[in-house]
Amino acid sequence: MALARLIDGEVSTEPSRVELNTHRDRILIKLEGPQSLNIRMMLRGHEGAHVCDGSRFLEPVQVSGSACGCPPTWGQRRAASRGGQGPKPEITVRFRLVEALGIGCFDLVSSSWALIEDIEAARASLSASDWPAKACLSIDRSVFTTAEGVEVIIRRPKMRLLNPISRFLISV
Ligand SMILES: [Zn+2]
Repeated sequence: MALARLIDGEVSTEPSRVELNTHRDRILIKLEGPQSLNIRMMLRGHEGAHVCDGSRFLEPVQVSGSACGCPPTWGQRRAASRGGQGPKPEITVRFRLVEALGIGCFDLVSSSWALIEDIEAARASLSASDWPAKACLSIDRSVFTTAEGVEVIIRRPKMRLLNPISRFLISV
């Protein structure tokens, strides 16, 4: 399939969706605007779920927009989550492939804490410019050696905005 070649990976088609698995470590995407980037934090508990954006409740409707009580920094929120006291991220990036804009939108869904600050920064830039933009989604690899001399490779998803897309490209 042409799409599989284009993304250097596999394409699986199910009745209601198409799933892409790429072997590339970076891919160029087009984001329509700040609404393409969504961070939702979720913790299920005995008294119902805590669903927020890190500082304000998103659900249920009766409390939506009010302060949720999560700590002020992502580092503190991550620590609370690790201790079972705070919600975990559910990040959705809705994009088109720059190399195949016409085939439709895809969602990258991630629960990576490493991606959150990229998403927030990109959302702020997109809100300021109010214009679609190209971005690079990638997997960053870092290697470190433990005190015992064991080499550990860490892979983290990253996203960075590139230039805004021109009017010409949008009209294609
Ligand atoms: Zn919260």
